[in-house]
Amino acid sequence: MDPFTGNFTQQEPIPDAAIEAALEVMRSGRLHRYNTGPGESSPVAELEAAYAAYQGSRFCLACASGGAAMTLALRAHGVGAGDKVLTNAFTLAPVPGAIAAVGAEAVLVEITEDLVIDLEDLAGKITSSGARTLLLSNMRGHLCDMNALTELLDQHGVTLIEDCAHTMGARWNGRKSGSFGLAGCFSTQTYKHINSGEGGLLTSDDPEFMARAILLSGSYMLYERHGAAPEPHVFEGLRLDMPNMSSRMDNLRAAILLPQLAQLEENIERWNARYDLIAERLAVCPALRVPVRPAAEYYVGSSIQFQLIGAAPEQMEAYLSAVAALGVDLKWFGRAEPVAFTSTHKSWRYVPTQNLPRTDVVLASLLDMRLPLTFSLDDCAHLADILVHCAEVTRLPGAA
Ligand SMILES: *Cc1c(COP(=O)(O)O)cnc(C)c1O
Repeated sequence: MDPFTGNFTQQEPIPDAAIEAALEVMRSGRLHRYNTGPGESSPVAELEAAYAAYQGSRFCLACASGGAAMTLALRAHGVGAGDKVLTNAFTLAPVPGAIAAVGAEAVLVEITEDLVIDLEDLAGKITSSGARTLLLSNMRGHLCDMNALTELLDQHGVTLIEDCAHTMGARWNGRKSGSFGLAGCFSTQTYKHINSGEGGLLTSDDPEFMARAILLSGSYMLYERHGAAPEPHVFEGLRLDMPNMSSRMDNLRAAILLPQLAQLEENIERWNARYDLIAERLAVCPALRVPVRPAAEYYVGSSIQFQLIGAAPEQMEAYLSAVAALGVDLKWFGRAEPVAFTSTHKSWRYVPTQNLPRTDVVLASLLDMRLPLTFSLDDCAHLADILVHCAEVTRLPGAA
């Protein structure tokens, strides 16, 4: 088996049109979003309008990061010190981080072996915790049954805020991820679906919520210069009550995101061609399990997850060494000591310790591979061959 020589963190270059737009912003010297003359718009305002149109939401706020979008959303919704916020236990640290940032307490919910929130455990924890808010993380792009979820939340009067860092562009039954509850939170960090290094987008249809979020983001009373904001009168009763959390996006980042947004749908198809090719090849190997994806889910395959069925920690280590020797960089979410972003809920000491036996079992054998668009379809076939080959040579239960 030839080793793979590609780079798992190498994204495609920023498109030429975006580089041109960035140069124009820099030549103007006007990088701050509110640095406009009378009647002029800014790249940030244009991005807000374009993203609201893409998402099909009434309002959009561009902000400093995906984490900032979630923090603003929680605070704008009125979540504060001591409040409980439900979230799935399998997520990335910015999610419990956003909950901690508003002084709230995360209540972690189990996940299923298909990597989505467990609705039964959620129902139990809504009742036992009394939490009124769910910050749902669509972790690694997996969508739960969104209809069943919203029905459950409606029954109990729980508000939904969606973390769509890995589901920008994804849909459930044709409806965009991020449009099922009060708000959707997106990230434009380098490893997500459009790339400005750092950045975030917050969408909602609720005028008061969005007015509060805009004020919180640090709008210096210049909210009339936003691209997809509520009418000025909505801000009247709120403008002096919202603290400034300085979480704005700048024009340079917005300028390079606009041309990338225009390419997003095409890129989703490119990601999914890569994902589907690998998923089909892994499905044939009895030692590996790829999460089942329901027909209602239109996903964005920017990364792939699979379990080594029944593998003990030593077998996980052996498999990781075998693939690494062939140039394949996998993350093991259940590793006892966090490496890079492989943190589990046990690595978040600022969250009260919670017992999540089912999630722990899933994470114990769960591996993750990034799929940057710089990988060709041939690269993906090669990667799949290595993943299957190593399952065979490390003698996993069930492998040939
Ligand atoms: C990346 C990420 C975010 C947001 O990250 P930022 O770096 O703050 O933009 C949120 N949730 C998940 C699951 C992520 O992977």
